[in-house]
Amino acid sequence: MLAALLYGSRDMRIEDVAIPEIDDNEILLKVKSAAVCGTDIRMFNNGYKGIDESNPRILGHELSGIIAKVGKNVKGYKEGMEVAVAPNMGCGLCDQCVSGNTHLCHNYRALGINIDGGFAEYVKIPEAAVRQGNVVELDGVSTEEAALNEPLSCVYSGFEKCNIRPGDVVLIIGAGPIGLMHAKLAKMAGAAKVVINDLSKERLEMCCQIDSTFVTITGGHLKDYVYEATKGRGVDVCITACPAPQAQAMALELMAMGGRINFFGGLPKDRENVVINTNLIHYKQLIITGSTRASVSQFRKTLGFISNGLIRVDDLITGRYSLTNITEAFEMASSARGLKNIIVFK
Ligand SMILES: [Zn+2]
Ligand SMILES: [Zn+2]
Repeated sequence: MLAALLYGSRDMRIEDVAIPEIDDNEILLKVKSAAVCGTDIRMFNNGYKGIDESNPRILGHELSGIIAKVGKNVKGYKEGMEVAVAPNMGCGLCDQCVSGNTHLCHNYRALGINIDGGFAEYVKIPEAAVRQGNVVELDGVSTEEAALNEPLSCVYSGFEKCNIRPGDVVLIIGAGPIGLMHAKLAKMAGAAKVVINDLSKERLEMCCQIDSTFVTITGGHLKDYVYEATKGRGVDVCITACPAPQAQAMALELMAMGGRINFFGGLPKDRENVVINTNLIHYKQLIITGSTRASVSQFRKTLGFISNGLIRVDDLITGRYSLTNITEAFEMASSARGLKNIIVFK
């Protein structure tokens, strides 16, 4: 089978490798769609622990496909079934795992992160993922939409912490695909106004094309805008969907009384210490949250949002590439051109 193997920083090679063998408790998936994510770009640019010349890895954690083979002990799945696959699996025994948070397990593994993922014609779904319910049959959702459900589920995990109520003013800093997914969920939850801030005018224009009710603000005018638009009150919810320390510090200044903040985007390791005015938290009684990855339950929930027409994700796809052109897709994603780039398989 064809696969894209990462050998180290900026060294990805398309190679013909053996189709993975599965045991009696595993599933072999024929990949149909695999989306490129910011995490892939970081791993591609910087390399990743455990990946080197003698230990290459197939990336791709946002994936869907058709079941090609089912181990004989596996129940509930059959050949030919179209499925989405949640990439994170846990040990199954720790407190996080038994509470349903297998994505927060100390020994968590993920397809396309620390085991081979979806930028290949076939991928092996390990027993832990099969047993933990990560493989979800598609019902009224295309395989392309299903690949985008993974980032949507992570966004939903952050969304759940913000308690967005009807009539809230919600500010999203960062107009990439993640920011747009946050904007869509906020609107779905009844936000009166969804404001999106970014440095790139081009990306903000794309936001307006996707939903003309989104209010877009470029760069530094944000403070003035928020002050005017809310009559000095501030925003109820702010989500930072960008790796910028200054966005986190600024968010606190833009909040209304009782505001909720989610630091969705992580910061680069060398810039993770941010000076913030904690009196703003104190006097405005702010709630600051963080979130990472998504549980299988959240993954299933958002798949339901798509199948029931509550939210669209297909309009975020701006580029489709074959596996042999994957470097092109990575270049597009790393230069922040377009929104979601996906690898599609015949
Ligand atoms: Zn991702
Ligand atoms: Zn665990």
